[in-house]
Amino acid sequence: MKIRACDLLVVGGGPAGAAAAIAARRAAPELETVVLDRQRFPRDKACGDGLGPGVVARLADLDAGEIVRGRRPVERLKIVAPSGAQVVGDLPAIGEAARGYVVPRAEFDDALLARARDAGADVWTESRLIEVVSPGGGLVRVEASGPDGPVSINARAVIAADGARSDVRRLLGVPYNDSAHTGVAIRAYVERPGGFDHMAFYFKRELLPAYGWVFPIDERGANVGVMIDAARFRRQERSLPDLLRDFLRSSGIEDLSPARSRAYMLPFASYVPPLVHGRVALVGDAGSMINPFSGEGIAYGMAAGIEAARRAVRAVRAGDEDRPFDEFDVWFRQRFDEHFQASARAKRLAQRAWIADFGVRAARRRPEFVREGIELLVGEGTALSWRSLARLLVHGRG
Ligand SMILES: Cc1cc2nc3c(=O)[nH]c(=O)nc-3n(C[C@H](O)[C@H](O)[C@H](O)COP(=O)(O)OP(=O)(O)OC[C@H]3O[C@@H](n4cnc5c(N)ncnc54)[C@H](O)[C@@H]3O)c2cc1C
Repeated sequence: MKIRACDLLVVGGGPAGAAAAIAARRAAPELETVVLDRQRFPRDKACGDGLGPGVVARLADLDAGEIVRGRRPVERLKIVAPSGAQVVGDLPAIGEAARGYVVPRAEFDDALLARARDAGADVWTESRLIEVVSPGGGLVRVEASGPDGPVSINARAVIAADGARSDVRRLLGVPYNDSAHTGVAIRAYVERPGGFDHMAFYFKRELLPAYGWVFPIDERGANVGVMIDAARFRRQERSLPDLLRDFLRSSGIEDLSPARSRAYMLPFASYVPPLVHGRVALVGDAGSMINPFSGEGIAYGMAAGIEAARRAVRAVRAGDEDRPFDEFDVWFRQRFDEHFQASARAKRLAQRAWIADFGVRAARRRPEFVREGIELLVGEGTALSWRSLARLLVHGRG
């Protein structure tokens, strides 16, 4: 078996892992960063491909804004209630940009991982982590299998960004989210000459508190899909492709022959497990960092990857190596807990179709409700206070 040593090992080359690797290399070019991913890139990932303003802000932070430059920006978002009532509002600003994009993950993830390679990270694809031998003491030893056979890697710190079914999380003995804090979703691609007008969330009765989506990519095509809570999915009898077909039919786009459908699960941040385990930190889906209301996970995963990498680099440089992710868990919760809790509250309300209808009706009359709703979905809003609810009840009536 080959033996290899590095300063920082990032497991998973998706957005959370690639962002971590870029941040580490930019902060400390003298430290060796290795990224391990079991797939060959470009690789597909089941996703709505929606990059919210939070992703745009993190790309700017990494000086990687050119990945989306020249693409069609999304500036407005449509929310459709179960009754068919709709509102359209602006995307919130995070950092400088109040805009997002829709970029197929096969392209986005490949471009971001290429940036990590350009920044000097050693990227090994088709290389799968199999075992975490010693997460707590001295160095972390992991075993992996790559194109040239098995390899043993000794790292000073490990960032686990290996997705919703994280092997690292399982090997550390951290249980996956239960079905009350997990969603399932399926996406497909459709084409229509003339394209689609808005990025749209359709809150359909059979999916509540989740929704179906139409996210336009360019002048012709869109990513379409449905998400549903895992617990609700189990209680009903239809498959995800059936739910998608029903959604497309009820939204008037059934004739477009959806192609390349693909489903996966979403660990919601209504439950975030302990994130730091000795010299290992969980980030992205591996740490259940998905907004429980919207299903958006890329922005939070990238933010966590960047922060974890910067902390690890600082600790290694300072010789404070035993605790490379000191306070990272606390930082993450302070930064996002309130937002996730407010999103979870909004989601609980949206469980009932009449409340979802009521909310959208109220929002048609009060623009601040549109803003608050959109900030919970794709921003970093925390505004679902009792005061907002009382105002909603007053203004939603009629
Ligand atoms: C259908 C669907 C629609 C969604 N829509 C959106 C959306 O529109 N916008 C949004 O922001 N979020 C969306 N999400 C959530 C989003 O896809 C995730 O939050 C995001 O991909 C998390 O990024 P990540 O880097 O943590 O993990 P991933 O993107 O899953 O990357 C993990 C990587 O780890 C690698 N890996 C796994 N195990 C190992 C191993 N043992 N060894 C080595 N490598 C390994 C994998 O090959 C993979 O490349 C959606 C999710 C689903 C399922």
